[in-house]
Amino acid sequence: MAYDNENIFAKILRGEIPNNTVYEDENILAFHDIAPKTPVHVLVIPKGAYIDMDDFAANGTAAEIGNFFAKVGEIARGLGVHEQGYRMVTNNGENAGQIVPHFHVHIMGGQKIKEGSMARGMNN
Ligand code: AMP
Repeated sequence: MAYDNENIFAKILRGEIPNNTVYEDENILAFHDIAPKTPVHVLVIPKGAYIDMDDFAANGTAAEIGNFFAKVGEIARGLGVHEQGYRMVTNNGENAGQIVPHFHVHIMGGQKIKEGSMARGMNN
């Protein structure tokens, strides 16, 4: 499967769609999820064109991957969710219900998350 340049996060990265930015550098953008499932719900994406976690892990460089996850930790700390805890989730592909085909992780916190609940439908 080829990367779809018209996916919504690609449009955000090109500045065609606004976002509520939490953090940005030359490699990474973090922004508030438009439909938060928890009081803190932030998405972190690499600026590189990776479809999903599988694509990122297989085709990203070790430096890119290491830097990305170090920054996810820093961003969570900056959001203040690290002490009480947070969930980091990525939906990879169809079975996981991935909606946007640009690799992203969810940082979800600010409330106790029910045992076994997932990124979506966790309040059901
Ligand atoms: P998933 O691909 O299933 O991991 O989820 C995609 C996430 O992107 C969902 O939580 C959406 O609420 C979120 N989302 C979709 N469009 C936007 C947008 N324009 N700005 C911020 N978040 C978005």
